[in-house]
Amino acid sequence: MSKQTLSFQAEVAQLLHLVTHSLYSNQEIFLRELISNASDACDKLRFEALNNNALYEDAPNLEVRVSFDKDAKTLTIQDNGIGMSAQEAIDHLGTIAKSGTKDFMGKLTGDQKADAQLIGQFGVGFYSGFIVADKITVESRRAGLKADEGVRWVSGGAGDFEVETITRPARGTSVILHLRDDASEYLNAWKLKQVIGKYSDHISLPILMEKEEWKEGEKEGEPGGMVKTGEWETVNKASALWTRPKKDITEEQYQEFYKAISHDYENPLTWAHNRVEGNTEYTQLLYIPAKAPFDLWNRDKKAGVKLYVKRVFIMDDAEALMPSYLRFVKGVIDSSDLPLNVSRELLQESRDVRSIREGSTKRVLSMLEDLAKHDKHTAGEGADGVTDVVDADDKAKEGKYTAFYAEFGAVLKEGLGEDFGNRERLAKLLRFASTTSDSVSVGFADYKARMKEGQEAIYYITADSLAAAKNSPQLEVFKKKGIEVLLMTDRVDEWALNYLHDFDGTPLQSVAKGAVDLGKLQDEAEKKAAEEAAEAFKPVLAKLKEALKDKAEDVRVTTRLVDSPACLVVQDDGMSTQLARMLKQAGQKAPETKPVLEVNAEHPLVKKLDGSVHFHDLAHILFDQALLAEGGLPEDPAAYVKRVNALLV
Ligand code: ADP
Repeated sequence: MSKQTLSFQAEVAQLLHLVTHSLYSNQEIFLRELISNASDACDKLRFEALNNNALYEDAPNLEVRVSFDKDAKTLTIQDNGIGMSAQEAIDHLGTIAKSGTKDFMGKLTGDQKADAQLIGQFGVGFYSGFIVADKITVESRRAGLKADEGVRWVSGGAGDFEVETITRPARGTSVILHLRDDASEYLNAWKLKQVIGKYSDHISLPILMEKEEWKEGEKEGEPGGMVKTGEWETVNKASALWTRPKKDITEEQYQEFYKAISHDYENPLTWAHNRVEGNTEYTQLLYIPAKAPFDLWNRDKKAGVKLYVKRVFIMDDAEALMPSYLRFVKGVIDSSDLPLNVSRELLQESRDVRSIREGSTKRVLSMLEDLAKHDKHTAGEGADGVTDVVDADDKAKEGKYTAFYAEFGAVLKEGLGEDFGNRERLAKLLRFASTTSDSVSVGFADYKARMKEGQEAIYYITADSLAAAKNSPQLEVFKKKGIEVLLMTDRVDEWALNYLHDFDGTPLQSVAKGAVDLGKLQDEAEKKAAEEAAEAFKPVLAKLKEALKDKAEDVRVTTRLVDSPACLVVQDDGMSTQLARMLKQAGQKAPETKPVLEVNAEHPLVKKLDGSVHFHDLAHILFDQALLAEGGLPEDPAAYVKRVNALLV
């Protein structure tokens, strides 16, 4: 193939622009990204060579070499991994194949700081080289191809790149960065070693640099300098981080490893590193991020756990290792028992994998429980009756659960429907706002501890927003009686709550479903008064039912209202009007059930109904207003306005 010039895919050009304009505040990450690519390339070779040993050619020792040339102002990262064919170089270095790319581009705001954060999460990989270079040359040959089937790829990082075939005896890839003037600090062995130590110490391959030694000037008065010796030395620890004993790993190393595997800029909230022994043996190093990724809600998003078998990298995003509701967890699982040639299909069926998945799920839940326990930690008597001492470690965990929940709480709730075995543990981890707390901090256990004498259910309401929930007419009697109600405003709440009928033996009861039965919370006098009011109201009720027979399943008198004339509820087993509305908005089919209209017989407006010449209009206004009050819209808004106006006039 002779030299040809090709254009970058539009997204790449856009990304490159961002890389050079937004990422310079954290220049040095380019080295981490390129070394990580080199290491991945070696992992891939090792994996392919499992079935084809010839791929090692005459260089069985996989390694990465970092070198620089002061005069030419170049920095080279060279690996003897899998390499690229000409077509692969065109495909991999000219396009972005990642899912969610469009989504990501759409999220960019133009605000440099916010964008830098997003780009970090997205992972710029190879293109980060352009943070420090104004030109990049890549020379590569894929393992197994002939020497004259190498490729040279060159780009200035604007709209296009050049490719041509070259002869390259060595397998693998060299990435040659032509450094910009403001990046000349990377032409220095000490600086490079420092950056490699910080970001790439955990890479399991040796990273080699050429040894230098001090040499005096040739003649009198001429300055001395460092010169290369031709001897190469390993400058990283070259053992995979998770294989080292915990006590030998610093907090900072754990954090850097997280950033390397997650592409996150921020430190993780917490992590757990364990060697699990038993039926199946494996090492787990699992992290909980501090911030949700931009594509958390992407249904296709895979779990962020990498699978290794006996330290050989097998695959990224091994979804079989984590349930979907924990898809935000990042980390590594290294199994001692799985076969090296395990495929995604095989993973789904393996008993070892099932047991790893169960163990890892439990580990994540324990991490969360620990954060939850220390969220608002103050010295005092714990639940176990023992006086706690707050140590520095506990202190560091303060507020972390609240932070976690704000980012991932809604995803965690999916677990109620997905993971029956851990439902009770999950229920304990849930937090909600309530009529006594605006912040999302009330757990079911807190609620239970505050329940009124005689209260037999945990009451909750679901709504589109906190304001709508708080002002819902269905809450009136609960407010009057000082009974706390949980306010649920996440889209998944209603769906998730379908799977949770009680907490610790106390039933959960939606205040917008079925008739209110406050049971022992109501005294005899109140019950009697309500019954009498209902009896007296019967003739009006019959007329209301008739007038609204197309809109309401039933009309009945309620004691749940205090200030409002009416509200809508659904039958006990029905779908709430709010969920039905959401489904419709999402273009999905919702069952066409009619709600029940409940009226407050004590309300002046309702009292006026009896004998009113406007009975028909008032009945419809009552119904439509109840719909408006919960955030819905009357079926025929114009008719509603007309009726109200007629009365106003
Ligand atoms: P990512 O690594 O996240 O896929 P990059 O932009 O860093 O994204 O790289 C794109 C692709 O280019 C890689 O997936 C890989 O196929 C190829 N690539 C990059 N660097 C190397 C390398 N040193 N050796 C072989 N292939 C490479």
